Amino acid sequence: MLMDYHIHTGMSGDAEGKFNECIRIAHLRGLAEIGFSDHFHPKEPEYSMKYEKLPEYVEKVQLLKETDDFPVKLGIEVDFIPSLQSEIEKITRREHFDYVIGSVHFINGWGFDNSKYISKYQEWDIAKLYETYFSLVQQCARSGLFDIIGHPDIIKKFGYKPEVDITNVFLNTIEVIKDCRVCVEVNTRGLMMPCREIYPSKEFLEICFDNEIPITLGSDAHKPEDVGKDFDQALELIREAGYENIARFTRRKQELVEI
Ligand SMILES: [Zn+2]
Ligand SMILES: [Zn+2]
Repeated sequence: MLMDYHIHTGMSGDAEGKFNECIRIAHLRGLAEIGFSDHFHPKEPEYSMKYEKLPEYVEKVQLLKETDDFPVKLGIEVDFIPSLQSEIEKITRREHFDYVIGSVHFINGWGFDNSKYISKYQEWDIAKLYETYFSLVQQCARSGLFDIIGHPDIIKKFGYKPEVDITNVFLNTIEVIKDCRVCVEVNTRGLMMPCREIYPSKEFLEICFDNEIPITLGSDAHKPEDVGKDFDQALELIREAGYENIARFTRRKQELVEI
């Protein structure tokens, strides 16, 4: 069975579409379950859901869980900001989420995955940038706040890649992820971005498989038509890496199901 656990709706500041439209597309694409994961940043940048909208979001998804025939999960994608961990904890513990995705979108306040701020890449040595990004991913895993690491190598989004081998950075990061018992997300949205690759890369995913790290699957849809998008390519990658199972979440408990 396949699930799409990374879906944004019009409740995120940068996405569009209604919950039931997403469910309709998921059904059409033959998915077994979907999870909504609108954006949440404790300091509310424009793409995030507003703090006061959170109860409405939770209520709407809860209602669908109770009334819709299609299996729905309540998730959320939270920005990992090291200095805001207690704020994140308050929110993630307060609501009955099925899972919480932790995503790194900022390096010292720089929204590196936002094309508006792309010029800042020029100021970095790219290998150093990757090291800095992955050390934040490690902190994100270690924080204990999240079930899933979202789009684990999104630092490659605009196609900036180090010229030196960074396998050691991957190995260290994956060791931390393993120790912290979090899942890694396979996210197809990278295929639409300048890097033209699924997050994470095959190399990264193979090391995850060797370390028995469970995976989830997400389209990171920002409109209903993109729900389940390019899952055929994701499936190919997952299988090539060796995986036969993916993780399913209920009230933050994980179980593995056959793909
Ligand atoms: Zn994200
Ligand atoms: Zn997202």
